[in-house]
Amino acid sequence: MSEREQTRTADVVIVGTGPAGAAYARILSEERPDLRILQFDAGPIITDPPGAHVKNLIDDNARARAQRLSEGPAPSSVYQSTDTLDGYASDAERIVRAGTFLLEDGYRHGDEAGLPAAAFSTNVGGMGAHWTCACPRPGEGERIAEVSDLDDLLAEGERLLGVSAELMGAAPLAEEVRERLARGLDPHRTRPVQPMPLAVRLEEDGRLWWSGSDVVFGDATRANPNHRLIDRTLVTRVRTVEGLVIGVRVRNLVDGREYEVDAPTVVVAADALRTPQLLWASDIRPPALGRYLNDQPQVVHAVKLRDVLPQDPTRAGGPVDVLSGVSWVPYTDDHPFHGQVMQLDASPVPYDGDILPGEVVGLGWFCAKDIRADDRVEFDDDRTDSYGMPAMRIHYDLTEADRRTLDRAVAEMVAVGELLGDAVFGDPIEFPPGASLHYQGTTRIGAVDDGRSVCDADSRVWGVSGLHVAGNGVIPTALACNPTLTSVALAVRGARAIAREAASALSLHRPQAGTHA
Ligand code: FAD
Repeated sequence: MSEREQTRTADVVIVGTGPAGAAYARILSEERPDLRILQFDAGPIITDPPGAHVKNLIDDNARARAQRLSEGPAPSSVYQSTDTLDGYASDAERIVRAGTFLLEDGYRHGDEAGLPAAAFSTNVGGMGAHWTCACPRPGEGERIAEVSDLDDLLAEGERLLGVSAELMGAAPLAEEVRERLARGLDPHRTRPVQPMPLAVRLEEDGRLWWSGSDVVFGDATRANPNHRLIDRTLVTRVRTVEGLVIGVRVRNLVDGREYEVDAPTVVVAADALRTPQLLWASDIRPPALGRYLNDQPQVVHAVKLRDVLPQDPTRAGGPVDVLSGVSWVPYTDDHPFHGQVMQLDASPVPYDGDILPGEVVGLGWFCAKDIRADDRVEFDDDRTDSYGMPAMRIHYDLTEADRRTLDRAVAEMVAVGELLGDAVFGDPIEFPPGASLHYQGTTRIGAVDDGRSVCDADSRVWGVSGLHVAGNGVIPTALACNPTLTSVALAVRGARAIAREAASALSLHRPQAGTHA
């Protein structure tokens, strides 16, 4: 088959190469290596292997360049960065993280709160090249009733992401932090304080390798001759005929060339704002599309540990990244926030005073949102964004219930801070909406097609045969914890459904047996 034909027909097209899209590629490569997979990303390859976390680039310039290449058309530097303590202490409305770029406009309507900090990454690996790698499991009301095998799927997600709870457990002062938290909190809670499961592994040379999509792809995908990754190519439309997917339309962002790809199965894993955007652009507009938007209201705080003795940084023996330790205060229905307690370099709060390793602790509390259909991303049929896709308009507000949850989160944070030490910059700070980077719900799973969901538990879009959606958008609950493990787990389920069902549909598209690469 010629090069041209190889990029014009496929059994499965995957849109997006973040952790969710990578999970589809991995499971299909493992379970159905006979399927021809074409995977597109609008962004460039920024690492070798493709999709790796930029934190693994030890050269500062190489890392800065990779981050910039992920920031789409607008450089982040014009907004307040969180790379300095000032970024946290200020009341900057639009904060931005390196490797991401903000929604240009349409992030607020009227006097609604909006999502001023709504952000994206456009690069192979998506936000998974820039994330903190925290991979907690959802619990209690966060769990998804429609997905009966959630625990098995989460275990599979942990395998794909390379999650470990132990690796950072031995970091300096991590045990001390956890003991103080557990003493104060565990007697009143249904889920105990524990080390945060992190997607990171220890290399033979003692360095840490932070997981990105490269880890999710794994050797199974990289060695699969039927998988092709095509970067800098925007998918502009999912093509359908009478409710059946027939392929996609794409634009090469380097030379502007447009072409069509024929495929009976398409997975859209283009993040929780751009997945509904692509469906909208394709005239696939179920009533729940873009609705039930969930951005976890977020509060941060920082303390310096009280009464600690100097530590020997080598005492931990394990990770070379000895300054990191992350503890987890899990969500419970009675305490509807997810707590992330991060020591120094793993923390979002930089600090350049005279301190011991692990001594400054950043607290990040993510609240369970009061989920409403009215919180939504809408798309414009007349205006386009800088990629030429329908422009977004966010409708988003905090309800009375959200304000009460936030007040409780602040009070709990102050109390938790007092268990540990003394506040570094005064009271906790409420981040602007959108800052969580954990947008969910816009293509949510449901048990039945009743207008309140976009897809079934296998992430198949209602009423469009051959179309799957993936990523945090499929999560229907008010998940407060970091969502990537959950969305990778749900992607495993969707990919297995394709693996099971693909044979009959796909054989129809094969020109001749044995002619594909
Ligand atoms: P993404 O990773 O966003 O990937 C989507 C991809 O789709 C992008 O590569 C984009 O270029 C591509 N795309 C979009 N539209 C198109 C199109 N039309 N055509 C082609 N390609 C397209 N989550 C956690 O669970 N734990 C954490 O600790 C955590 N920390 C974070 C810290 C930071 C600084 C950031 C930025 C994020 C963090 N997150 C965290 C969020 C996490 O990164 C995301 O949940 C995760 O990456 C989502 O995966 P995804 O595959 O759904 O989407």
